[in-house]
Amino acid sequence: MTDSISPAAVSPNPFDPVDWEAFRALGRRMVDDLTDQLQGLSAGPVWRPMPVEVRDAFRKPVLQGVASPEAIYQDYLSLVEPYAGGNRHPGFMGWVQGAGAPIGALAEMLAAGLNMNCGGRDHVGVALEGQIALWVRQWFGFPDTSAGLFTTGASAANMSAVLAARTTALGEAARRTGVGDAKLCAYASTGAHACVVRAMEMAGLGREALRLIAVDADFRMNLMALRAAIAKDRAAGLTPFLIVGTAGAVDVGAIDDLDALADIARSEGLWLHVDGAFGAMGVHSDRVRPRLSGLERADSIAFDFHKWGQVPYDAGFIIVRDGARLVDTYASPANYLSREPEGMAAGQVWPTDIGADLSRGCRALKTWFVLRACGVEAICQSIDRSLDLAKALARLIEAAPELEQLGPSDLNIVCFRYLGPDADELNRAIVRKMQLGGRVAPSLTRIGGKVAIRAALFNPRTGLADIEALVEAVRLLGGELAGDPG
Ligand SMILES: *Cc1c(COP(=O)(O)O)cnc(C)c1O
Repeated sequence: MTDSISPAAVSPNPFDPVDWEAFRALGRRMVDDLTDQLQGLSAGPVWRPMPVEVRDAFRKPVLQGVASPEAIYQDYLSLVEPYAGGNRHPGFMGWVQGAGAPIGALAEMLAAGLNMNCGGRDHVGVALEGQIALWVRQWFGFPDTSAGLFTTGASAANMSAVLAARTTALGEAARRTGVGDAKLCAYASTGAHACVVRAMEMAGLGREALRLIAVDADFRMNLMALRAAIAKDRAAGLTPFLIVGTAGAVDVGAIDDLDALADIARSEGLWLHVDGAFGAMGVHSDRVRPRLSGLERADSIAFDFHKWGQVPYDAGFIIVRDGARLVDTYASPANYLSREPEGMAAGQVWPTDIGADLSRGCRALKTWFVLRACGVEAICQSIDRSLDLAKALARLIEAAPELEQLGPSDLNIVCFRYLGPDADELNRAIVRKMQLGGRVAPSLTRIGGKVAIRAALFNPRTGLADIEALVEAVRLLGGELAGDPG
């Protein structure tokens, strides 16, 4: 006698909506509300701190029962939406973050609806990503043999480049037995992003193997110091393998002399990676492109679509001139991932062969929507706009006797401070108050050891009025906090 299970005895799928019409109605409401929110951003504050009740709402130790999607959406409206990061708002100028193109949000919904796993196999998600890689290749003047894919961000993309350079330097042995006592060393400027340091740590090479080369007065890597450091390491029996150039430093927007770095890398036989997290998108602007000369000679470029590209988070990208280097770094044989000449397991090189992830979502769809709907023209326009705003801000700072600019501002990031006794603490307090105030929100950094107010202009919604409000608020708060009645 065999057990038989009648269809009625099999429980229904608990994940599908109980009521599909209610699902449809809720979706429409969500899109309506989102549209209103995006249109009305400037009426609200940049950011608001979460009150205790909101924090407590996210500290429930036990998940209990189920709620209707409508009830959860009500919670979203009261507990989530008002307390978002703030980077959509025109007054946001803290950190290097994009504001997000609204069309990208709709595309994200579609991508989630398709629920494609873009680690591999033969489906349109992989083809879409290939399309973006093709465009990227063309933008940077990379050859047909290059390969690239989406990552979470430039941090992961930089990590990938360090690994590819490492595998190239040490060969397959690096994967078989690890880095052992290989004495690899790499070079980046002191203005390099902290994630480059971390990538060296994570690659097992150690952060001390990354030589942080001094910068010139213009905050670009000092080339003499770079050459000297390489020579010194060679003389000590170490193996230089990688130069990381920065195209758009987070603090002042400096762009290393990429052509010179490419020359040095070539003559020394080193891998040249460029961290172009936001700066590489500058190839779309006539005003930035000339300063990126040499980018097309890099062995790899890391950049983000989610900064100047305004694709909603997250959308980083790594492209490597010789795509085989990525395959050498990542591809692993596995029975369950074997390839077939046709069917769903077709395709020679899958994304999982050139990156660290197997399961991965479809970042390409939102990027495809944003790029096609807005065009590189929009990227160019918003870059130029942010350059203009930075110039305007620098002029306002210059005109204000109580303010001082710190570092150069020849791209879209301006650092400055309110002058006065105990200026470090004073400027910290000014920025904290501005963020809590909600009209304009810069962030803090240090330039030459001094605490600086940093205005990073990436949001295409930011206008001249926001720049003026920033300077006004700093002057006002600075005067108040310094106890200056004037
Ligand atoms: C933003 C940024 C990073 C980090 O990129 P994520 O996308 O945040 O991971 C690295 N380098 C530079 C120059 C950046 O601006």
